[in-house]
Amino acid sequence: MADEVYLMVIAPHPDDSEFGVAGTVARLTGEGKKVVYIICTNGDKGSNDRKMTPEKLAKIREKEQRAAADLLGVSEVVFLGYPDQGLEDNHDFRKALVRVIRQYRPYIVATADPYRKYMWHRDHRITGQVAADAVYPYARDHMAYPELLKEGYEPHKVREIWFWGTEDPNFRSDITDTFDKKLAALACHKSQFDVSKEMKERITGFAKTNAQGEKFKMAEAFHRVEMRY
Ligand SMILES: [Zn+2]
Repeated sequence: MADEVYLMVIAPHPDDSEFGVAGTVARLTGEGKKVVYIICTNGDKGSNDRKMTPEKLAKIREKEQRAAADLLGVSEVVFLGYPDQGLEDNHDFRKALVRVIRQYRPYIVATADPYRKYMWHRDHRITGQVAADAVYPYARDHMAYPELLKEGYEPHKVREIWFWGTEDPNFRSDITDTFDKKLAALACHKSQFDVSKEMKERITGFAKTNAQGEKFKMAEAFHRVEMRY
C-alpha cells in the first residue's frame, strides 16, 4: 500500500542519514515507497566557529536536514530534539523511539550500527543500540510502555533492521542511479562540510567498493537483520 511507511531512518544527527542511506532512500522514493526520517539530536555542537551558538546551529541544521530530505523525496522529518552528544541509553529515549515506531509502523528501520569497534561517536553507538531495542522487544509488546497503548500507539512488528557504518556488511543496496542525489543531499549540510573534490572521490570510492561482487556499480552497505517473531 502506497501510504504505508516502507523505511524509517533513525539518525543520531542531521547529516548521518545522508552518509548512511541517502542513495537507497532516493531509489526507494523513486519507486513510490514512503520513507520517514527521525533525527534524534539537534546537532547543536557540530561547529568549530567560535561565534556560533548552539541555538543558532540547531536551527541551521534543521533547515539543512529538511532540504536534504526534500531532495530525496522523504515524506516526513521528525526532530526529537535531544542535545548533540547528549543521548543516553535510557527509558526516555527508548520510549521516544518506540512511540515513533508504533506511530509510523515501518516495514524496515535503518540506523547506525552500534557494534563498531573502537572509536565511534557516542550518539551513533547509543542511537543504534536504543533503536534496535525499541524495535525488539519494546515496540512489539503491548505491556511495554503501557502508557503508549493508552495514547493509542498499538504494538508494531518491524520486519527488518539495516545498520549502516557497519564493519560486518551482509547486504548491498544499489545506488548506481541515485548516487548523484546522495551527493546533492550531502551538499545541503553546508554548516558541516563542503562536498569538495576530495570528499566526492572518497564517497565515490566507498560506493564502488561496497558494490564489489554485485551486478551494479555503486552501493550502500548494511548489516541487515530479518526479524523472526
Ligand atoms: Zn553523526
